[in-house]
Amino acid sequence: MSEPITASELAAALEASRREAQALRDELEETNRGVLALYAELDAQAEQLRHATELKSRFLAYMSHEFRTPINAIRSIARLLIDRVDGPLTQEQDKQVGFIQQTAAEFAEMVDDLLDLAKVEAGRVEISADWFEMVDLFSALRGMFKPVLTNPELTLVFEEPQDIPRLYTDDRKVSQILRNFISNALKFTPHGEVRVGASCQAERVTFSVADTGIGIPPEFHQTIFEDFSQVESPVQKRLRGTGLGLALSKRLAGLLRGEVAVRSEPGKGSVFSLTIPLHLDRVPAADGEAARG
Ligand code: ADP
Repeated sequence: MSEPITASELAAALEASRREAQALRDELEETNRGVLALYAELDAQAEQLRHATELKSRFLAYMSHEFRTPINAIRSIARLLIDRVDGPLTQEQDKQVGFIQQTAAEFAEMVDDLLDLAKVEAGRVEISADWFEMVDLFSALRGMFKPVLTNPELTLVFEEPQDIPRLYTDDRKVSQILRNFISNALKFTPHGEVRVGASCQAERVTFSVADTGIGIPPEFHQTIFEDFSQVESPVQKRLRGTGLGLALSKRLAGLLRGEVAVRSEPGKGSVFSLTIPLHLDRVPAADGEAARG
């Protein structure tokens, strides 16, 4: 049998474990303070990052806005010259002013895209949802592209939307994304067809723009949706662009709670798609149409 524990031994053991507990508490408190300090540092860094992003967006927005006035002036003067308002032009002068006009138009497009991107990043893009019919959207797009369809070897087809209910979303943003897909498809398809369609599945609608153009190698399928990204190819060098359209489309799709995607095979063609909910949040029920959708 073991010796009985005396009162003084018990007191000493208790004191030892109290001291141990105190040491543990101190250690824990210290760790806690360390964690809190780390959190504070992380918060400060996140704040700095937010500030830097905000500054970048403000700078982009400001710069793009300031660029608009001189670009518009260049475009107006080029138009006056081409319209011979100030007298005749030689054939060569006509060609050169034509170049100025085309370059200024590309520059204006880039500035518009940059401004839009900056606005999206700064959270300043307003989404304004309303009810609309797919047929109306397609016919507006058809009208917009008719004047630019100058290649006789290329056709642009809008499929008749089948069984697509009315949509409740921001039709202008949808149109902006599809316009970008379609103008890319027309640009990168020397001959054949560009086909625009839509299908509906599980409360979501998928718009697709399929072309029979040059296609995109698999290693570029992700990167083309990043800012200023273009595929390296000899064809690309002839066809200028900003490399911002798809990045903007991706961000706009996100604002519509949807996503963009691409399937493509070099030499065969590409299919760009946009999938969004049929109804963006907060469908007004009083509309009377809401139940039918
Ligand atoms: P941009 O067309 O102004 O260069 P985008 O962001 O719209 O910029 O497109 C990025 C790149 O993706 C294009 O430069 C091109 O290399 C590639 N791309 C986009 N659409 C197509 C398409 N339909 N067929 C082939 N390549 C495409």
